[in-house]
Amino acid sequence: MASKQTTTLALTELCPICDLELHFSTDIEIGELVECTDCGTELEVKNLNPLEIIEADVEGEDWGE
Ligand SMILES: [Zn+2]
Repeated sequence: MASKQTTTLALTELCPICDLELHFSTDIEIGELVECTDCGTELEVKNLNPLEIIEADVEGEDWGE
């Protein structure tokens, strides 16, 4: 009963906007959208290893040139 189980299955990353610690399941994928539970910002999974979360580009990519 002394085995100490680490929480390697849980992914955590700070919200880039409000620094809230967000928890992600291990089956998230790049490009997945999540919403910060604190500031409500739409966030996008940019990278998995290491986990990187960015503010989702809600404006779309067609900005014109
Ligand atoms: Zn936030």
